[in-house]
Amino acid sequence: MKPQPKRAVLLLLSAPSGGGKTTLCCRLREEFPDIFYSISCTTRRPRQGEVDGRDYFFLDMEEFRRRADRGALLESALVHDYAYGTPRAPVEEALRAGRDVLMDIDVQGAARIRDLLRREPQSLLGRSYVDVFIMPPDEATLRRRLEGRAQDDAATIERRLHNALEEMRWLDQYQYALVNDNLEAAYDRLRAILLAEHCRVIAGRNA
Ligand code: ADP
Ligand code: 5GP
Repeated sequence: MKPQPKRAVLLLLSAPSGGGKTTLCCRLREEFPDIFYSISCTTRRPRQGEVDGRDYFFLDMEEFRRRADRGALLESALVHDYAYGTPRAPVEEALRAGRDVLMDIDVQGAARIRDLLRREPQSLLGRSYVDVFIMPPDEATLRRRLEGRAQDDAATIERRLHNALEEMRWLDQYQYALVNDNLEAAYDRLRAILLAEHCRVIAGRNA
């Protein structure tokens, strides 16, 4: 019997801050431990409990620029006043090894990757790419979740809420959108997307 072929998927998740990316990413990584999580670089300070090299690579602006200038970042963007970027080599290496890759990236970064891939649809990244926009059920719930997370001061929460409304406008650029209302239901939707995308037939995949 022929085994089910499995396409390696580059799964990019975006959501307004507090939308639930981190929570959903953790669930996915627990269930699919082989998935490669792309650790981003950022110039923001670590939050309590965050570990350099596990949650982010925490860099100063000079080092961030150096990496961007030598082409080591697949994309980069300014988010909430800090620079964020995705290291390129680890993502390509994981896909080459047939592993799924999970990325948590803002709407600007996702747009940059899409632009890149439009020019190279047959590249390793282009053939693996899937993006999902995660939406909070409504503004009041988003505020409650940001406040409940207790990681940001009031001014930061206001800025993130303001940015959230802007970010929602990018929704129709994504292949999939899911509402993170009930966590179990949202996770089931995300999981279903990944499993279906494993089975997608890509023309010229073996070319
Ligand atoms: P993001 O990474 O997108 O900023 P988080 O995953 O940190 O968002 O979620 C923000 C807060 O909301 C966290 O405290 C998290 O536990 C909580 N949260 C996430 N999803 C849900 C949900 N479906 N129901 C209730 N609380 C949730
Ligand atoms: P946080 O500081 O709350 O962890 O993340 C803030 C925002 O930055 C989130 O929207 C997150 O998706 C985004 N982000 C994290 N890493 C990257 C990255 O490498 N590139 C881009 N463009 N955005 C990122």
